[in-house]
Amino acid sequence: MNSQAYIGRFAPSPSGHLHLGSLVTALGSYLQAKAQQGKWRLRIDDIDPPRIMPGAIEHIQSALWVHGLKWDDEIVYQSDHSAEYESALQSLLANNKIYRCECTRAQIKAAGGRYAGTCRDKTSVSAPFSLRFKHTNPVSNLNDGYLGHITIDPSATNEDFIVKRKDGLYAYHLASVVDDIAMGVTEIVRGEDLLLPTACQWSLFHAFEAQPPKTMHLPLVAFKDGRKYSKQNNAPALDLTQPKQNLQHALGYLGIEITPQAAQMEVVPLLNWAITQWQQKSLPVSQPPLG
Ligand code: GLU
Repeated sequence: MNSQAYIGRFAPSPSGHLHLGSLVTALGSYLQAKAQQGKWRLRIDDIDPPRIMPGAIEHIQSALWVHGLKWDDEIVYQSDHSAEYESALQSLLANNKIYRCECTRAQIKAAGGRYAGTCRDKTSVSAPFSLRFKHTNPVSNLNDGYLGHITIDPSATNEDFIVKRKDGLYAYHLASVVDDIAMGVTEIVRGEDLLLPTACQWSLFHAFEAQPPKTMHLPLVAFKDGRKYSKQNNAPALDLTQPKQNLQHALGYLGIEITPQAAQMEVVPLLNWAITQWQQKSLPVSQPPLG
């Protein structure tokens, strides 16, 4: 692969502050890009205004900055891309890959909670309607750069997923894939919790006749009781006065052991040292979690 062409990205949703789990993802994607002299882009996934936390975008930027994670080029804001999402939807509609669905959440719940393609063949539906992707042939095998060869049970991903919501908001899968294609992303490095979404997104890449990027799904940070570190689970925000300690902690999750010498390093030398450690690391590191 031409190392100059590598483009990675970190794509947080500004629905809360960055926590240790987000730092692990940011750092892993940064190390993977920099180990290949590639670009590391920052994309703010701000397509869901009711979920945006005031001040979160600024916090994300300063948290990355304090930890020495400097992004390349200008920041991409999904809220600027409605026209691109709309035209992507028009092309999917023209190719008969999406359809209008009038089902309510309550109806889907009453029918067992899984959407059964009820509106696929309807010739007319009443407003308001969502748009759903005909998910006929989901990917069932992935060669993940971190986890190795993964098999995914298609019954976990073959629901016709929403690409535009009834309230007019664009769905994450659609926005993410349209932007990953436009940004020329060559590898997506993100948390293991997004493994099943990857299968849905791969189908969209194929529908747009685009080559899906490579992937790396990184380990998640969990509380002692096993709950995942997340905004929903009230994971504490990163303490921005302790970037060295945070980075050391996050490197531990990525399997990089801090040597006594590295423990003395300031942020920038620590990151540079971590890039060389990452380059020498043997990946993939573990067995697939799904089979
Ligand atoms: N913005 C989403 C998140 O923060 C997804 C990011 C991605 O696709 O990497 O979970």
